[in-house]
Amino acid sequence: MANADLMDKLVSLAKRRGFVFQSSEIYGGAGSVWDYGPLGVELKRNLKDRWWSSMVHQRDDIEGLDAAILMHPRVWEVSGHVEGFTDPLIECTSCHRRFRADLPEVAGGQCPTCGTKGAFTAPRMFNLMFKTFMGPVEDSSATVYIRPETAQGIYVNFLNVQGAARQQVPFGIAQIGKAFRNEITPGNFIFRTREFEQAEMQFFVKPGTDEEWFEKWMHVRMEWHKDLGIRPEKLRFHEHGPDELAHYAKKAYDVEYEFPFGWKEFEGIHNRTDFDLSRHQEYSGKRLEYIDPVTNERYVPYVIETSMGVDRAALVLLADAYREEEVEGETRVVLGLKPALAPTKVGVFPLIKKEGMPELAEKLHADLRSAAIPSFYDVSGQIGRRYRRQDEVGTPWCVTIDGDTVKDGTVTIRDRDTLQQVRVASDKVVAWVRERLAS
Ligand code: ATP
Repeated sequence: MANADLMDKLVSLAKRRGFVFQSSEIYGGAGSVWDYGPLGVELKRNLKDRWWSSMVHQRDDIEGLDAAILMHPRVWEVSGHVEGFTDPLIECTSCHRRFRADLPEVAGGQCPTCGTKGAFTAPRMFNLMFKTFMGPVEDSSATVYIRPETAQGIYVNFLNVQGAARQQVPFGIAQIGKAFRNEITPGNFIFRTREFEQAEMQFFVKPGTDEEWFEKWMHVRMEWHKDLGIRPEKLRFHEHGPDELAHYAKKAYDVEYEFPFGWKEFEGIHNRTDFDLSRHQEYSGKRLEYIDPVTNERYVPYVIETSMGVDRAALVLLADAYREEEVEGETRVVLGLKPALAPTKVGVFPLIKKEGMPELAEKLHADLRSAAIPSFYDVSGQIGRRYRRQDEVGTPWCVTIDGDTVKDGTVTIRDRDTLQQVRVASDKVVAWVRERLAS
């Protein structure tokens, strides 16, 4: 399948089946903003829950935080974002479309929209932060920024969390939340948007141990991505060269995935040194040092950051899981999502509407629901069509209730990937599914 086709197919499947809709579609859509539908919100939640569980619940050296999106405007001056969070912007003087000057599409000096050559303006730096006003007066003293990263909320709370949770360095703070960037050239569906979600973790370490921790986190994060079921050959690291490093970073690696439009970053791992904490300490006048309880040594910790875009990671999951295959002379579309990530876990199908089958099927569906296992009850159409509808949204198991169920209480469970069918007692289905979801 051509790569461009894959993106078109994903966008269309996502809309048709309720993963992702364009924001404000009835008004023609809002520029590069997307809404997650019933299945998309489940996929994203499963991804975030898995991240939260591995970062916060399964470790005792990381605490959670949910900081506000709006912060004191000084935060963004001190962090360097007001001055430095910019991209070079050029405009085609023929069609007036604007582009990011550092994108490969414009490298030859030709406008990708109208084809005119040599008509770009000189680049000017464009700040990516959205601004608004706090309070009723719209003047410059009331300007606030809508956060472009969740990290700063963690830095300003470093000592609050450390004290309240009685943590000792090395420890981390994790947060999932919205971030906003007024991107010049958004696109590729949910890859680059103006409103998105980040799952970030800032790990505070003693200076001098930062390189070792950086290596550890690179390893942990790559293994985590592989454990999502992403094909390992589609994952790689990319090290930032000196011209790519952000103003705060000593070292940075991107975790990249081979999207249909090429190898691109979906998580950044950064050694942010003591840049942020030192700057906040200097400009707020509040000490942000850590005092080692054993040696009484005082220092500003270094920070190793892991910053994953949740929407980009969701796109990785969709792109990696999508496949088309021939089954019994028919093409079927399958989203081969890991069961724990799939939005719906079980399809429940009474074979025909007689002999008590619907009642048994409804009972099983209700049992699954009360066990908080998302299940979809479907009575309409040929059984093959019901399977296809679940295959294309990644439902790992479909249960059919047939004549034998009425006689002996067993049902057939069919596996999405192997197509194998097993017979299981209807009252054991919840346990059967639970067991497989846990693995
Ligand atoms: P890029 O180079 O693609 O603009 P970045 O290097 O600016 O990304 P970071 O600041 O490191 O990105 O942000 C961490 C993560 O947040 C990225 O790996 C990505 O997954 C996500 N992210 C950043 N910008 C966007 C965006 N506009 N839309 C969706 N996700 C984004």
